Amino acid sequence: SLQRGYGVVVEPVQWSDIGGLESVKTQLRQAVEWPVLYKDTFSRLGLKAPRGILLYGPPGCSKTTLVKAIATNSGASFLSVNGAALYSSYVGDSEKTIRETFHQARLSAPSIIFFDEIDTIVGKRNFSAGGGGDGGGDSVQERVLSTMLNEMDGVENAAGVLIVAATNRVDLIDKALLRPGRFDRVVYVPPPDLQARRQIMDIYTRDIPLARDVDLDAIAQTTELYTGADLQNVCREAALIALRTRILGNGSFTKNSTSEAAAEQMPVDDASPP
Ligand code: ATP
Repeated sequence: SLQRGYGVVVEPVQWSDIGGLESVKTQLRQAVEWPVLYKDTFSRLGLKAPRGILLYGPPGCSKTTLVKAIATNSGASFLSVNGAALYSSYVGDSEKTIRETFHQARLSAPSIIFFDEIDTIVGKRNFSAGGGGDGGGDSVQERVLSTMLNEMDGVENAAGVLIVAATNRVDLIDKALLRPGRFDRVVYVPPPDLQARRQIMDIYTRDIPLARDVDLDAIAQTTELYTGADLQNVCREAALIALRTRILGNGSFTKNSTSEAAAEQMPVDDASPP
């Protein structure tokens, strides 16, 4: 487990568990690993490790998984704050939760704080009309934003605390968060292209027996608008169909999703020896 003292336990994710996204992976590794590996060169050149990285892109395309890979490979402790969960507790607690998370991150450095769905934490849709971002209003969300900004500015580079956030709606992110020394790297995580879809199919069929006529190239080609999450589902449903076929004696079932339709093309060989 990745838990070191305080933090969230993350199931380990290797870079090779993520299909495609080569340049995203390289950017992230450089941002996270280089400051540690080439510490002296960094300081000689007057460079600083990034304080914050913002990942944006459509849902289901492995933003969360990338952050877990960073945590796994850097050996940092991992603290996670979910936007939706932050406001579900009673008012007043949200700022405290943010402050305590940063406090714990400093104590357990090297560490990563992950803000999932950050637009729901500090997104514009949360601000009352006309209030603006820096209007000094006192809505919970405005107080949470200023708490975030204060805490981010307070994290010294040497403290070894990296802040990573993910969003589907980068347009909603308050610009104050994008200033240097805050989220200074903004990385787009695109949906998978053909080659990435092929790799993702490989990853999710690694451990299941496939029938001989399964053509993963063809499946990658016919799943143009599928996300990584969709492709993972295709493989899961193919396995379920194999299970049902075995139990019911035939493949009869009601199709209830496009993943099932695609999964049908991919019979899993349930007869092969374990
Ligand atoms: P959301 O914005 O909905 O939180 P996300 O971009 O954070 O989505 P994840 O939660 O990381 O996406 O991915 C959803 C699921 O799809 C995960 O189980 C993940 O492993 C899988 N997945 C997505 N993209 C890929 C990929 N490129 N390679 C392997 N698995 C992927």
